[in-house]
Amino acid sequence: MSGTSRYRARPEPRPARERAGPDPGSPTRGEVDPMTAPLEKEPRPKVGERESRQVAEAARERDWRKPSFAKELFLGRFRLDLIHPHPLPAVDDRRRGEEFLTRLRAFCETRIDGARVEREAKIPDEVIEGLRELGAFGMKTDVAYGGLGLTQVYYNKALALVGSASPAIGALLSAHQSIGVPQPLKLFGTQEQKDTFLPRLARGDISAFLLTEPDVGSDPARLATTAVPDGDDYLLDGVKLWTTNGVVADLLVVMARVPRSEGHRGGITAFVVEAASEGVTVEHRNAFMGLRGLENGVTRFHRVRVPAAHRIGPEGAGLKIALTTLNTGRLSLPAMCVGAGKWCLKIAREWTAVREQWGKPVARHEAVGTKISFIAATTFALEAVLDLCSQMADEDRNDIRIEAAIAKLYGSEMAWRMADELVQIRGGRGYETADSLAARGERAVPAEQMLRDLRINRIFEGSTEIMHLLIAREAVDAHLTVAGDLIDPDKNLGDKARAGAAAGAYYARWLPKLVTGAGRVPGAYGEFHPSGHADLSVHLRYVERASRKLARSTFYAMSRWQGRMEGKQAFLGRIVDIGAELFAMSAACVRAELLRGGGGRGREAYQLADVFCRQARLRADELFDRLWSNTDDIDRRVVDGVLAGRYTWLEEGIVDPSGDGPWIAETEPGPSVLPNVHRPVHPDR
Ligand SMILES: Cc1cc2nc3c(=O)[nH]c(=O)nc-3n(C[C@H](O)[C@H](O)[C@H](O)COP(=O)(O)OP(=O)(O)OC[C@H]3O[C@@H](n4cnc5c(N)ncnc54)[C@H](O)[C@@H]3O)c2cc1C
Repeated sequence: MSGTSRYRARPEPRPARERAGPDPGSPTRGEVDPMTAPLEKEPRPKVGERESRQVAEAARERDWRKPSFAKELFLGRFRLDLIHPHPLPAVDDRRRGEEFLTRLRAFCETRIDGARVEREAKIPDEVIEGLRELGAFGMKTDVAYGGLGLTQVYYNKALALVGSASPAIGALLSAHQSIGVPQPLKLFGTQEQKDTFLPRLARGDISAFLLTEPDVGSDPARLATTAVPDGDDYLLDGVKLWTTNGVVADLLVVMARVPRSEGHRGGITAFVVEAASEGVTVEHRNAFMGLRGLENGVTRFHRVRVPAAHRIGPEGAGLKIALTTLNTGRLSLPAMCVGAGKWCLKIAREWTAVREQWGKPVARHEAVGTKISFIAATTFALEAVLDLCSQMADEDRNDIRIEAAIAKLYGSEMAWRMADELVQIRGGRGYETADSLAARGERAVPAEQMLRDLRINRIFEGSTEIMHLLIAREAVDAHLTVAGDLIDPDKNLGDKARAGAAAGAYYARWLPKLVTGAGRVPGAYGEFHPSGHADLSVHLRYVERASRKLARSTFYAMSRWQGRMEGKQAFLGRIVDIGAELFAMSAACVRAELLRGGGGRGREAYQLADVFCRQARLRADELFDRLWSNTDDIDRRVVDGVLAGRYTWLEEGIVDPSGDGPWIAETEPGPSVLPNVHRPVHPDR
């Protein structure tokens, strides 16, 4: 198994002439060609926890200019008025969106063969061309720049639809539009940049987002790719890992570190880079557990010249730009999770009705039935969360950064569980590939592929662990704002005294409000209990009470652990997960009420919201219990034991097929010595 990595022992770079053939312009012996000379290898920068935190903190948006339902929820204030009545799209937006969905559905049904993408591990070029003709690469781009100008609601519906035909194609379009070049340009680009790039991107030039490096995953403070000012340009050097779309991309957003110098404030900065620029090499196409059609690569930059005019925003603003882009960009991933849930439900319904074992359809066995109910209820709630967040993003009335982050976290975790239950419900067929099923003459249901394809959602665009921290940071922000100096080791006694007085005044006003509220008033939220429908008012009262309990628990933990709070990741993770359940319950109830008004489906919607809330309450109650009754302390001791090697005897009796290669490839800076596997898809150009 070992010895296959081309990055383990990089061969010495060959001389320029040997690589590129005779070049009359190449330097003569003794001169150094800056394009091919290897760079001095800098020692890998040592980055401590404090610095990592500072970088993340600096990238945070600090201001809360608009109300946020989720932020209030974490503070014990259930502001149902911020999400109810459910906002709705404008008539014109809806018409345009529905028209596009009709065309896209026809395309998915007739032109996309998801099984072929999986089999060949490639999206056929003609499918990409067809998507271009449809305008799918410019769904969110303004009409003025040649895009379709769809709202967030319809963009997400389109992703759910395409993702159901082929998750890899969903990922292609989402990486291009949600994190690729169009979105940061839309938010932060100059007029000239918009005029130059947006029409190209809307027509179908493919874009990618390049932040991750072999040594940079969740921690951008370690970013090593550099952008050194050189006249009116910057020179980029470094290696980027796992660049979705990178293999076929035309335009890249690259995050690189500008060194501080005179006239340059420096810092991590975002650039638009032409993928065909000299010095850009896609050295490898990565292969994964799922999303086999993904054109994901390793991209090397060697003295790549990028005009300063292609810098997005000021120097040092790169991470903030990336995070702000993700405020709504994060919604595309849960959109595809919603699509996955709908598909799981369809297959579960059809299969469990016809498969008979032990004298009845398997759906009628309670152990299977509970899984079907979970899939139906969760799909309803995920769609409720997604549509609510998307509509709020379109309205721009509320701040939705926490809600979108919850949608990503909750959507990816729940979709994974749903797909896992589907595999279980399908029995042995759940584990069998679609091709194998078809070869035996059965319906080609790709349940195992769905599970594999969904798994990455819990890792990329902010892993579950990082999302927990990110959301927890916002959840405790009010406390840090008023009492942060109290627990800051760098503050002096005077600062602490002032902070103590301010905190005392704040908590004297805030804490009494957490004692009681509408959740204790019988009949509160009565409009959510119309006659002939399930009673959702009881769940909203629960949310109100639980929101106050959540805030009390957070406050208690802050006063107990103070500066050590940020290390209590398991506790914080549970706080966030409770908040996610409460938000999903609220969204489900509000959506049910919306559907009741929309005619026809109100009763069923109420029933689904009711069952979802009951399931969510059980999960939330368990999480509340586990806030204070858990194995966190002893787990920490076990980790010490594991890392100290005290239990290695437990590992005896196996072999380890992974061999002894390096855990993280050494990526020396310098010119590429590998063939360029960049493969732009432009058959007609
Ligand atoms: C298929 C695929 C596509 C991708 N596409 C792109 C792309 O287009 N562009 C791009 O830039 N990147 C991309 N990535 C990279 C992806 O975003 C990273 O994998 C992700 O950010 C996690 O980083 P990492 O893998 O280095 O994990 P690490 O950061 O090494 O983390 C390892 C584990 O530790 C946890 N962890 C790390 N730090 C902390 C902490 N402070 N507290 C608690 N837990 C922590 C993580 O959650 C994880 O469980 C892609 C990756 C894959 C596999």
